[in-house]
Amino acid sequence: MTPATGEPDVLVVGGGPAGSTLAGLLGAGGLRVTLVDRARFPREKACGECLNPGGVATLERLGLLETVLATRPVELRGWRLGTPEGPSAVGHFGSGVGHALGIRRGAFDHALLDRARASGVRVLEGFHLQGLELGRGIPLVRGREVGSDRVWEMQPRIVVGADGLRSVVARSAGARSRPARRIKASLSWHLEGPPPTEPLGHLLLGGPFTSGLAPVARSAPHADEGSVPGRSIWSHTVVVDPRRYADRLRADPEGLGREALHALLPDDADRFDPLGPPRASGPFDSPVRWAARGRVLLVGDAAGYYDPLTGQGIYRALRSAELAAPLLRRGLDAPDTLAAMMQQYDRSIRRAFTPGRRIQKILDRGLDSPLLRRFGVTILSRRAAGADTLVGITGDRLSPRALFTPSAWSDKALGTPGEPSPSTHWMG
Ligand SMILES: Cc1cc2nc3c(=O)[nH]c(=O)nc-3n(C[C@H](O)[C@H](O)[C@H](O)COP(=O)(O)OP(=O)(O)OC[C@H]3O[C@@H](n4cnc5c(N)ncnc54)[C@H](O)[C@@H]3O)c2cc1C
Repeated sequence: MTPATGEPDVLVVGGGPAGSTLAGLLGAGGLRVTLVDRARFPREKACGECLNPGGVATLERLGLLETVLATRPVELRGWRLGTPEGPSAVGHFGSGVGHALGIRRGAFDHALLDRARASGVRVLEGFHLQGLELGRGIPLVRGREVGSDRVWEMQPRIVVGADGLRSVVARSAGARSRPARRIKASLSWHLEGPPPTEPLGHLLLGGPFTSGLAPVARSAPHADEGSVPGRSIWSHTVVVDPRRYADRLRADPEGLGREALHALLPDDADRFDPLGPPRASGPFDSPVRWAARGRVLLVGDAAGYYDPLTGQGIYRALRSAELAAPLLRRGLDAPDTLAAMMQQYDRSIRRAFTPGRRIQKILDRGLDSPLLRRFGVTILSRRAAGADTLVGITGDRLSPRALFTPSAWSDKALGTPGEPSPSTHWMG
């Protein structure tokens, strides 16, 4: 058994953006924090790798933006939205919305974990949580060291589940409201391709695949990936119905990825080369009944996830950490307030994310219908401000209420003046 060098105040399980950010904030505030992750960093993660404007603003508020900019992400000013039926539109992040970043999850997550370590957090990599026992008092947490028979146990005052989509903490604590529905699966991979000529991500909506592509590194400096200087690295994600594509997901993921890239960029797909095989993921939807109860608190995907379509997951990971930190600090400083602080966090999470989840579900259903998809994107192509408003909402910088203001439906773009107007040719 690995000896615990003094039990932590808080054990954070998972070193993704949610766990590292919360651990760092608590560690900097003087609490004894241990973070365990079954992976060794840097580790990759299936992701479209776009940090939306809300996520960028959260990093800035938390003093973490410089750390992330040091990983050399790519600035993105909006999205080009296409449909298999033909209509397309461009939504720019308008003034006051800010910008998004194309990031490499390996580097991004590692940088945030290192910041947590520098804030005094004890980080244990290769530590796999297997379960927890919740009696009336302090939780007992058990796991195994990856690649060995050694088991470990800890008795923290609080356990934070930041262990992602299939959170063992959420499941063991009884937070899951039902098993995930197997309605979507994804492939994501890095491609080397031409440098971008406009600061936009690209999304093909609906049809057999939903497919997203964004630049995540301007040049390709990583010799370990066999890349050529002067080319850029792009992140490509494909989301499909696993029932329809089960065989190809298993037997030919690379062919499926290529086909989806051709659907997204019929004229340019051959200019991209994969830097490795695609990474599969899914199912996604993992609802929870609560995000904090007793001595267990959930952040990021562990606190509920629906779908990668609108690219809001990292924002929610960072924002849930930002909401949790001051409440946990107060609850641990004054234990008689802990239960109230946990309830307050639970309410804040619902208030912060429920409207966005509703919009996600509406978009998801609309995109299933070719008629609605075509109609919706045709309107957005004629009403530039509508497209800007929509990407501002899914960018977590505008309230969904913005859609109901007259200015959202003018034909004038809200995007910052002086930005290149949308063109159909977008690569060098
Ligand atoms: C295909 C796809 C595309 C996406 N695209 C985007 C996008 O473009 N933009 C966006 O904002 N979001 C996107 N998301 C969502 C985003 O990836 C997640 O919302 C985000 O990673 C959540 O962060 P997290 O810290 O909660 O969890 P994670 O990043 O998943 O981190 C969880 C950590 O917990 C560790 N862990 C898990 N189980 C255990 C255990 N039992 N013991 C110890 N450690 C454990 C894991 O190793 C991992 O490091 C996408 C998701 C998918 C699947």
